[in-house]
Amino acid sequence: MMEKVIIIGGGIGGLAMANCLQLQGIDFELYEQAPRLTEVGAGIGMSKSALDILEKIGVSEKVHRAGSFIKYACVKDRNLSLIRELPVELDSICIHRARLVEILGENIPSAKVKLGKRIKSIDQGSGVVKVLFADETSASANCVVVADGINSAIRNQIFPDIKIRYADQIIWRGLTKINLPAYYDNRFVEIWDNRKRFLFVPMDKEHIFWLAVQKGKPGGKDDLAIIKNDLFRDFADFSPLVKDLIKNSENFIRNDLADLGGQPRKWSSGNIAFIGDAIHATTPNLAQGACQAIEDAYALAACLKKHAHDLPKAFSTYQALRQEKAMLVVNTSWRLGQMAHTANPFLQYLFKKFWRFAPDSLFKKQEKVINDLSYTEKIN
Ligand SMILES: Cc1cc2nc3c(=O)[nH]c(=O)nc-3n(C[C@H](O)[C@H](O)[C@H](O)COP(=O)(O)OP(=O)(O)OC[C@H]3O[C@@H](n4cnc5c(N)ncnc54)[C@H](O)[C@@H]3O)c2cc1C
Repeated sequence: MMEKVIIIGGGIGGLAMANCLQLQGIDFELYEQAPRLTEVGAGIGMSKSALDILEKIGVSEKVHRAGSFIKYACVKDRNLSLIRELPVELDSICIHRARLVEILGENIPSAKVKLGKRIKSIDQGSGVVKVLFADETSASANCVVVADGINSAIRNQIFPDIKIRYADQIIWRGLTKINLPAYYDNRFVEIWDNRKRFLFVPMDKEHIFWLAVQKGKPGGKDDLAIIKNDLFRDFADFSPLVKDLIKNSENFIRNDLADLGGQPRKWSSGNIAFIGDAIHATTPNLAQGACQAIEDAYALAACLKKHAHDLPKAFSTYQALRQEKAMLVVNTSWRLGQMAHTANPFLQYLFKKFWRFAPDSLFKKQEKVINDLSYTEKIN
């Protein structure tokens, strides 16, 4: 019988897991290495499937109030001439990451969240998992959920063969307060030009969230004193609006785009299950990584409730339900990113044609598949 679940990691996935266990009436303790629950200064897109789960756990009203609905997705060229506009038919929101984490955190009792606890390693005994912290303390439970992100120390310990795959693309994110023309309200804009991309979307009443992507090798670091000028130069031939967003940005966050590849793998080992980026990190081209982590959390908590006396069954049911969609996201997002930055002029040409002429039905189908939660009905 499962008495308590230990969750490792207090990012969006771990916090969603805590909320979903609470929903199922399952006791938990969450351990996070940082001294407080928060996230970087950037926006995040939540699609309908994730919003539906946020509604089930009772936080959707707060999320709706804090974020901004996205009603249209547009692809434009560097001069902001429209290539394609698609209505976003299923609810989708852009919200500040830190606010989302705050909302998820304030919905669970603070006594169940242990901060400043970095997990060093994990020991599996017969039926009991002992979690060892960097401060030399430990905690035990017969069920552990690992949500410690793409660089997961626990995954490296248990599944050392899973390697990070770099896309050789660098992404910068930031928040800017400028007045955009009313046309941009509720519009997500993605500008594609010459192997560079610039994206922006209104995030709340004050901020525009922007992202800039270009080719580059992983492992680099920005000099914060000059990054604004560097990006300004790199995107110099883009519309003045893009340059305004860069020039007035409050911050610049740099990441190497990466995932964990699409090879089949186990999502659990003994009494330990993995969720989110720790087991199926994706590149962000579909804005789905955190949404998929939230879906993992909901499905795993429901499986733990249904098979409370049979952990192997709970874990195998969870993976069987989730992996097809998670892998679809990983593979589609990877391909999209590779096409967007291809050096091959013929492929560039084909890709542009695709955006102009692919039928709406194709995009609608993808939106439906990504937002499908009907698999959760199979749990009960
Ligand atoms: C540029 C960019 C844009 C993105 N945009 C979107 C988007 O629009 N929509 C979307 O859905 N997704 C998006 N994503 C993906 C999303 O950010 C991730 O998929 C999501 O944050 C993963 O959540 P997680 O909880 O699995 O991992 P993480 O967010 O990485 O959280 C892991 C947590 O575990 C903690 N931790 C790590 N190691 C330890 C340890 N040893 N002990 C204790 N705690 C530990 C960390 O401190 C952290 O709090 C984007 C990603 C990037 C890079």
